[in-house]
Amino acid sequence: MRQQIPATLSASLFEARADAIIDTARELAVLGWTPATSSNFSARIDDDHAAITVSGRDKGKLGRDDIMLIDMHGNAVGTDARPSAETALHTQIYRRWPEMGAVLHTHSRTQSVASRLYADDGVIRLQGWELQKAITGYTTHESVLEIPVFPNTQHMPELVDRVDAWIDGGKPLHAYLIDGHGIYTWGRDMQETHRHLEALEFLLGCELDLKRLRAS
Ligand SMILES: [Zn+2]
Repeated sequence: MRQQIPATLSASLFEARADAIIDTARELAVLGWTPATSSNFSARIDDDHAAITVSGRDKGKLGRDDIMLIDMHGNAVGTDARPSAETALHTQIYRRWPEMGAVLHTHSRTQSVASRLYADDGVIRLQGWELQKAITGYTTHESVLEIPVFPNTQHMPELVDRVDAWIDGGKPLHAYLIDGHGIYTWGRDMQETHRHLEALEFLLGCELDLKRLRAS
């Protein structure tokens, strides 16, 4: 069944969001950050709906049929396509922060290695890097940017609870890693979210290089 757009929603808005996801996914796939159909991407449509990648598709070759509509509880709307298993992690961000407009989740080699290396610490503390300023809200390299590393699980409610617990603890959250898995980050629109992801990939790569060089 092709995606049907409910009359209460703008079809052209859905298409614009779908195209933004497709373009971003293609760029990230070229970089090798979405291997073997992994990763998932979404963009908010309105208070109650988001566009998200259909499960299991090659992220370098997405078309409009690979993007589906969901409500903010992760239910498919107007389609019998199956959203990503990790949809709950996307809708969690949209429900918690009405200003957030896009969520990107990738599985790059750097993100995967960093997640394992820092899993025991449970957090990566970035400080002293100029590029931290690419994260909205950070104005100086001197601030500390904490990226939590949560244990991997196939049971999404567990991860949702861990993310909630971190936010409820009052600490800022701009991204998180999942052990042996990848990264989640978000922003007010696709462009800002893409910038966050690029900056985080760079910063994690720098941290790994430093660790390697200091050990040698
Ligand atoms: Zn994943």
